[in-house]
Amino acid sequence: MVALPFIVAGGGIGGLAVALVLARQGHAVQVLEQADALGEIGAGIQLGPNVFRIFEHLGLTEPIRRVAYFPPNLVMRDVRTGELVVRTAVGEQALAAYGQPYGVIYRADLHQVFLDACRELPAIALHVKSKVTGFAPREGGVEVQLADGRRVQGSALIGADGLWSRVREQIVGDGKPRVSGHIAYRAVLPMQDVPPHLYSPDVTLWGGEKTHLVHYPLRRGELFNLVAVFHSDRYEEGWNTFGDPQELHLRFAQAAPHVKELLNKIETWKMWVLCDREPVANWSQGHVTLLGDAAHPMLQYLAQGACMAIEDAVTLGAALRAAPTDIAGAFRTYQQARYLRTGRVQLTARFYGEIYHASGVMRELRNRMFQSGSEAAGFIGTHWLYQGIDPDRPFD
Ligand SMILES: Cc1cc2nc3c(=O)[nH]c(=O)nc-3n(C[C@H](O)[C@H](O)[C@H](O)COP(=O)(O)OP(=O)(O)OC[C@H]3O[C@@H](n4cnc5c(N)ncnc54)[C@H](O)[C@@H]3O)c2cc1C
Repeated sequence: MVALPFIVAGGGIGGLAVALVLARQGHAVQVLEQADALGEIGAGIQLGPNVFRIFEHLGLTEPIRRVAYFPPNLVMRDVRTGELVVRTAVGEQALAAYGQPYGVIYRADLHQVFLDACRELPAIALHVKSKVTGFAPREGGVEVQLADGRRVQGSALIGADGLWSRVREQIVGDGKPRVSGHIAYRAVLPMQDVPPHLYSPDVTLWGGEKTHLVHYPLRRGELFNLVAVFHSDRYEEGWNTFGDPQELHLRFAQAAPHVKELLNKIETWKMWVLCDREPVANWSQGHVTLLGDAAHPMLQYLAQGACMAIEDAVTLGAALRAAPTDIAGAFRTYQQARYLRTGRVQLTARFYGEIYHASGVMRELRNRMFQSGSEAAGFIGTHWLYQGIDPDRPFD
């Protein structure tokens, strides 16, 4: 009897990563993506050394390196005064302890690397226009329900369907995501549109009261990525809509001239209402589990959501390799290995948001503490994160 495929709900970075891992282990995989086409929005994301360890394990280092950009430093400045708060070198030498670099990448390029790798494997079937609405356990597997009435039979279901996961709704049932009150405006400029005096090769964060701006080059330095974040209770929830430049300029009214000049370079911003959830210890039910933002959505202040989804994928693969005939047990092992690490990222990300957006005494303290530390001290708080997991033994 031919085994039923593993069904993956969602063809984002997490969904494709787990499809790749499972297919390479000999499983048939069906990816069900609700959108009309597979792809990612154009914006930058940062990739810590921990995820480069996973790329190496997956044999994807070369294609990633071809499209990534490697900044020399992570820099924090005060948004009002422009003063340097902290500079942390992240070039290859600085990160020798991890044996991996710190990079940034265009999301669409990262997604494409996974898509190309998936398309090489006939065991993976990629379906678009396939919105998952629910599931029902079946003897030895699961039946997945789609919005158009179709029913798909699988040996297991992995909900990689993001922040508003339908699969999570059925397993965890914790309602809507938590609206943080933080809004992100994102834009990407061709590098030729960035005047030399506004350019920096670093990942630079301008932190200020309830606001910050991040910028860095992308795609081998051909693009320039900007993310402006501010607090606002004007928005409830949403994803990928257009921002209002007037509001942005108002929020950054106190910013240094350099920052204002940069913001003025952009005419069209894409807007995100930033949400997360409380960490949970259980996100599996029998032959169904969650992965990536569906399992542990986080604010972006540690720049790790996609990295965690990719770590999840290899951990899940390792759990199934260790117990190939016990899918429910393997899903429990996987979540046991992941929930504290991902929960720590969820909670630490909130705290980093507070630090970036500090005002008054907290801002003074932040600046002094960072300014008095050594460069190497910049990694002390994140060592647990950047050292990563051992992809061969992720349960240790
Ligand atoms: C402003 C911002 C900055 C960020 N910066 C970073 C960063 O620097 N580094 C980093 O690592 N991460 C970053 N992240 C986080 C990162 O974007 C997410 O964690 C990551 O995209 C999660 O991947 P995912 O595959 O789990 O979910 P998603 O990317 O949300 O993908 C889910 C997929 O499932 C599909 N889907 C949804 N519902 C259904 C359904 N019912 N049926 C079928 N398909 C469905 C969606 O269409 C989508 O394709 C950032 C996020 C934001 C908002």
